[in-house]
Amino acid sequence: MVFTIFTILFVIFLIISGWLARRIVRLVDDELTRKLAVEDESYRKYLDQKIVAVKKRKELESESAEIFTLYEMTKDIVVAFNEAEALQIFKNKIAQHVRVEQCEFFEMETTAEMRSSKKDAEHCVFTLQGKNSKLGYLDFIGIHPDDKEKAAILVQQFALALRRVRLREEIERLAITDSLTEVYTRRYVLERFNEDIKRSKHRNMQTSLLMIDVDFFKKYNDDFGHLVGDRILREIGQIIKTHIREIDIAGRYGGEEFCVVLPDTDKDGAAFVAERIRAAAEQAEIDAYDARINVTLSIGTSSFPKDGKTIDELVDKADWALYRAKKIGRNKVCAFGVYEDSV
Ligand code: GH3
Ligand code: MG
Ligand code: MG
Repeated sequence: MVFTIFTILFVIFLIISGWLARRIVRLVDDELTRKLAVEDESYRKYLDQKIVAVKKRKELESESAEIFTLYEMTKDIVVAFNEAEALQIFKNKIAQHVRVEQCEFFEMETTAEMRSSKKDAEHCVFTLQGKNSKLGYLDFIGIHPDDKEKAAILVQQFALALRRVRLREEIERLAITDSLTEVYTRRYVLERFNEDIKRSKHRNMQTSLLMIDVDFFKKYNDDFGHLVGDRILREIGQIIKTHIREIDIAGRYGGEEFCVVLPDTDKDGAAFVAERIRAAAEQAEIDAYDARINVTLSIGTSSFPKDGKTIDELVDKADWALYRAKKIGRNKVCAFGVYEDSV
């Protein structure tokens, strides 16, 4: 009996132990599976992150290569000496980096017309924006859609280069321009005159100089004040500029005296231009604030090689002729040598 009970208990024990063992094994198994799933998940996440990181790195690398290309391009354009050169370098760079059939640069005047007549998908027009104004427009014809963004960046670089070139030109212009009268400075005119004399010697040509002085200028200053005096000088500068050729060089010699270099011009030619300037000044009514003023000019001329071979000689002779023009009554043109015996 005892043995039977013991046997039954033992069997029960075995069943319970078996059940417990199975239960424990399942629990451990579940736990392992869960842990594995978690690790699997984190591994997958890690892989995903790695893929993203590689992709990102590649993107950054290509972006950095692009920036480097742009930098290289800017470097090239920035060394450009003038606008035409900057545009040529820009076009070369566009040809290398952007898929486009044609790229044209337009100045402002023509652009409005161009824009209205070419408003279709083939044309992609970029505005070159300066600090306060538009520098021009670039029309990309047949550009690949994927390259538009790159072109836009390159256009900005070109706009910067253009700004720089124009700024430098303006600074150079200001350095050789008299701020009151807007004609060249004395130093610049004399430099150019010197070059012109050398060229004329070399090519066996003539060149002439005008010395121009405002008659009784002191009186205008005294009667109307210095501001009006300044306005007169500015107007005289404009009159001189509008009555000479493109290749002639007008400057302010000092105070109320102007000078003009007339390349490839003989004595008669110089007298003709001087007379044209004198007559224009005489006819002009200068609007000086609330006064309308008439001024006259006296002009002396000298010519290379007849009157002198050096710049100093020619300036002296033109001055001498100017002195004579004053002497014979002002509002006159005198060529050196022509009136020598009469005064
Ligand atoms: P003339 O017919 O003999 O040339 O007489 P003038 O009065 O023109 O000659 P003068 O040389 O006696 O006077 C020149 C005057 O020009 C004297 C000076 O005060 C004035 N002047 C020189 N530079 C300037 C300037 O930048 N602005 C003004 N308003 N006056 C100036
Ligand atoms: Mg004078
Ligand atoms: Mg004078």
